[in-house]
Amino acid sequence: MQEIKELIYGQLSSDSPFLSIVDKVFAGERLNRSEGLLLYKEAELSLLGLLAEVVRRRVNGLQVTFNHNFHFEPTNICMKSCAFCSYKRRYNEDGAWEEGIDELRQAVRKYKARGVTEIHITGGVHPQRGLEYYKAMVEAIKEEFSELHVKAFSAVEIEAMCKISGVSFLEGLQALKEAGLGSIPGGGAEIFDEEVRKQICPDKATSQQWLEIHQTAHELGMMTNATMLYGLIENYEHRLDHMERLRTLQDKTGGFNTFIPLKFRRANNAFSHIEESTTTEDLRNYAVSRIYLDNIPHLKAYWPMIGKEVAQLSLSYGVDDLDGTIDDSTKIYSMAGGVQNPNATTQELITMIEDAGKEAAERDTLYNILKRY
Ligand code: SF4
Repeated sequence: MQEIKELIYGQLSSDSPFLSIVDKVFAGERLNRSEGLLLYKEAELSLLGLLAEVVRRRVNGLQVTFNHNFHFEPTNICMKSCAFCSYKRRYNEDGAWEEGIDELRQAVRKYKARGVTEIHITGGVHPQRGLEYYKAMVEAIKEEFSELHVKAFSAVEIEAMCKISGVSFLEGLQALKEAGLGSIPGGGAEIFDEEVRKQICPDKATSQQWLEIHQTAHELGMMTNATMLYGLIENYEHRLDHMERLRTLQDKTGGFNTFIPLKFRRANNAFSHIEESTTTEDLRNYAVSRIYLDNIPHLKAYWPMIGKEVAQLSLSYGVDDLDGTIDDSTKIYSMAGGVQNPNATTQELITMIEDAGKEAAERDTLYNILKRY
């Protein structure tokens, strides 16, 4: 840490506007919004990388984790109209699919034999599937493989299933938890700013509903993750507002495990005319997230979305988690221009981590370390 300190202070003049921010980062103090904005707008990438490294070493040391998981996407039939989405289909539209509980059981059996520890389930917001259907899915998983951690259903899906079934979020989440739900993923957060949301996902669960569902899950003892869609029409203030709302909830509940910035990919959607963010912008965003979100322990690079090369680079910009092996089991980002047939072997993830000068470890969903390499 001393070397990093010397490097950072060595590159700043005595009247640098970043000096007080650097002092705060070394003292472990929280940055305010104007300081976050200054970092986003003015800081050199090298300074951001070093400051993010200070925070990541304090929280996670040199460790970078991954897990053995697979995704199950029950359907891409969706009643919502998010303009950035490349995935949704209406009934009978080309490319629409619906997987039932039998297909889910088969997938669980297949991956059980491969030693996975987690199933990740998200998909479209199906207009006819209510809480009972999703509860039956979780029960079926547990019947097939009781130790498998079920991380399932974004807050957007939970809002819709509770509405269809006429129950409150608390009742819905309690029923899912009793069925065996272990945690909920971070999808559907997009950008919390209501004006941006009107333009990119007007009929989706609101920001307030998203936060309420996560808070309720935390109060029931379930950990959750949080995402942020970036690189679309939002500005830096919107990103900081988004992170601040998460930071505030985390102060109350402590229930977020991981923050996952999701890069907008433009293939096959209504925002295809927008240029995607550059790699330096992706790295800038990871670093500011790490520095700003002082109370969420982990920062994940979701490699199927940004590619393995950028994911590896992100390990020098605050990222300490690379998600999982995935094994070609998700289509959400490949349909938008991400990695095709995403798949990573354990050895490949270890090599990515070690070549970046970090220490690889396999974790379970709740970040308990299962094996160090
Ligand atoms: S992002 Fe999700 S909720 Fe929105 S249209 Fe696509 S599948 Fe539906």
